[in-house]
Order: sequence, then C-alpha cells, then structure tokens
Amino acid sequence: MKFYSTNNPKQKVSLAEAVIKGLAPDQGLYMPERIPILSKQFIEKLPEFSFKEIGYKVISAIFSEDLTKAQIHDLVDHTLTFDAPLIKVEQDVFSLELFHGPTLAFKDFGARFCSKLMSLLLKDSEKKVRVLVATSGDTGSAVANGFLGVDGVEVIILFPKGKVSELQEKQFTTLGQNITALEVDGVFDDCQAMVKQAFLDKELNEKLLLTSANSINIARWIPQSLYYFYAYSRLPQNGKKVAFAVPSGNFGNIAAGILAQRMGLPIDHFVAATNVNKVVPDFLRGAKFKTMSSIPTISNSMDVGNPSNFPRLLALYGNSEKTLKESVAGYFYRDAETVEVMQEVKKMGYTLDPHGAVGYKGLKDFMLENPGYQGVFLETAHPGKFRETVEKALDLKLTLPDRLATFMKGEKRVGILNNDFGDFRKYLMKLE
Ligand SMILES: *Cc1c(COP(=O)(O)O)cnc(C)c1O
Repeated sequence: MKFYSTNNPKQKVSLAEAVIKGLAPDQGLYMPERIPILSKQFIEKLPEFSFKEIGYKVISAIFSEDLTKAQIHDLVDHTLTFDAPLIKVEQDVFSLELFHGPTLAFKDFGARFCSKLMSLLLKDSEKKVRVLVATSGDTGSAVANGFLGVDGVEVIILFPKGKVSELQEKQFTTLGQNITALEVDGVFDDCQAMVKQAFLDKELNEKLLLTSANSINIARWIPQSLYYFYAYSRLPQNGKKVAFAVPSGNFGNIAAGILAQRMGLPIDHFVAATNVNKVVPDFLRGAKFKTMSSIPTISNSMDVGNPSNFPRLLALYGNSEKTLKESVAGYFYRDAETVEVMQEVKKMGYTLDPHGAVGYKGLKDFMLENPGYQGVFLETAHPGKFRETVEKALDLKLTLPDRLATFMKGEKRVGILNNDFGDFRKYLMKLE
C-alpha cells in the first residue's frame, strides 16, 4: 500500500516512509491510496469475534502487502493489551471506555501501535531510532509508555520545567529504560521549537535517525479505527440506526471512525462534539472553515483552534464539503454545560470526565433531534486524570486507579537543558 499526501495526491510514499516522516514534506497528511472494503460476511459475524481477532482482520486489510502475518499479529497483540468495554449508561446510550491503558487515555492505542510498527519497519536499520517529542503533558506520557521497552527505539522528551502537572510529569519521568526526559528552562513553545530545529539540522540528521511520532502520523491514526469495529460488535443487534459521538480536538479520533465506516462498518451518523474551540462545528453548520487561537477550557485536551486532521476528514469524503456536512453533525458546549452534564449523569450512577461529558451531550442532543438511533460516545480519558475538575464538579473524592498511584510513587529522573538549541544539539551529538 502506498500513502499519498493530502496536499498532492500524486506524491506517494511507502508505508515506512510515511511512518518515519510522520508529516509529508509538503505539510500534507498521509492517506492510504485506497481504502479496502471488508466483506459483508465479516461485518455480520463481528459479534462472534474477540477484540484481537477484529484487530488482525482490520489491520491485515490495510497492511498485508507490507507486513507478514506474524508481524501483524505482533502489532495487534502489543496494541490491544487492555480492553475497551462498552458500558450501557441509559436506554440506547453507551460509553466506549478507552481509558484502560497505561496512561488512562485513548491515545495509548495509537502510541502503542506506532511504537511497535516503527520498530518492525526499522528492524534491519543499523541506526537506533530516536523519537523526539515536545510535550505539555499528555502526549509525552502516551508516547513514553507506548515506546517503553521497544527494541531499537529511544524516546527523548522535552518538557517545560514547572509547567506540567505532577501526575503527568510522573508518567514520563519515572520510567527509565529507553525513555529519557529532559527538563527545559522555558515554556512548551520553546521545547517545540528546539525539536523542530533538530529535525532541520543537517549534520544531526546525518548522524542520527530522528523521527517524531506526531499525532497526525498514520501509525497513530489508523489503529484508532479498531475500537469502532469492536464497539459496534458489542452493541445490541436490534436493527436500530447507529451513531458515534466523538469529543474532538484535532479530529484524529473521529477521522479514524470515518475510516472504519469507509471500510464497511455500518455507522449511520457521526457526531463531532467540542468545547468552545468550535471551528469544526461552526463549519458543519454552514460557516466557512476558519481557524482561531485556542481558548482554555476544562476539557483541555480538546483546546485546539486549528484542528490538524481536518484535511483528512475532507479526504475521507472525497473532498466533498457537502458530503462531510451531511454525514457528521457538529455540537459545542461551554464549560458550565459540561459540568451540568457531569452532574446529571452522576445521578444515573456513571462518572464522566470532562471530555467524555462533551461527547455524551453531543450524542444526546443528536438523538433528540433524530429519533430511532442507538448511540455510542467515546469516553476518552479516565475521570481520575482530570481529578481536580471532576472532584469540584461532583463534590466528591476520587480514588486514583492503581496505575496512576504507582506512577506517583516512582522516582523522577530528568536531564536538565537550558532554553537553548545549542545545548540540546550538544546532547544529541554525543549519542551513539
Ligand atoms: C487528545 C484528546 C482528545 C481529542 O482527540 P482528537 O483525536 O485530537 O480529536 C479528546 N479527549 C482526550 C482525553 C484527549 O486526550
């Protein structure tokens, strides 16, 4: 399978190149040159398969020209080491819990798949791969935990000193092994600038094999479609139409759902739900697509004013704005509404995190306007990850899951960098 750039469909590259580069040189996003359609028979039999069996089948459909059967099994086994239970919250409304992985957010699926795929693609490379990441919190932890212990790959994380919550910091500074955390005396943008400069440095790139594992990487994007198949397979098979509501920021997660639909999964409608960073809901309701600077909210992993996967959404609908608007409904909510929803759902016995709450509300509003559906909303993070907000909204004390509590006990180990590319460069040049 070749992958094309959304900025120039004639520009096609191999799987390895698309994964190692992440973003196309023309700044486009990579897309598979054709989307395989799974057989009707497979779709009908979905309820009989395990999550991993679904994973092998879907991943084979896209990657079988480039990977052996054994490699595909390795890849899926390494990714799906935890479940994604579908929980009934009320009549016709289900929560797809994507937070049972090591860092308690859905990004664990993509990060685990990406790490394993990189190590498979580079197994004959003489050079060790260095993944450089700048993080303000969540990306660092998902990437670090996804790559932990993966052969031939070393992760180097730059993070701003004193700007990351203690819980987030612990998730990438206590791991050791092939994960190195470097504390930069600056802000997130400084870390990002240093990483970008490293990719542009000719001498560095001749000496080291550097890559980014950026969230637009196909190796992080494609595996997210697996849990749509799985969720669908666990829904009551009652003939009702099916909607999926996705709390969205960069729109990679919902784009993976649309990929599943394009591969033959009978999803009837998507709901894109956001906080007040509402560029896409505005577009879906008729406005021109217009980026904005991001506004801070309590669902802060979705505070995105320039959603990076938007070209992918369009590409999936044949670059037809009309089809995209007909297939995806957009809703946005203010923080006060999000808190209210968390409180209402708590009374039904279910605890939402602020991101899941936005998804739930989007689904409910869609179902109100469109009777006859059953729906799934994606619960993208464990409520404990946003402990302060959840405790305040619901007036309760949360018990942290064991995995988080274990991180908190770990010892922080970091290297120290000045806010200066020269310092970072010197560090990299010393690596073998
Ligand atoms: C990253 C993130 C999102 C947004 O996902 P996109 O793929 O960027 O739309 C939603 N919820 C949580 C908890 C996240 O970490």
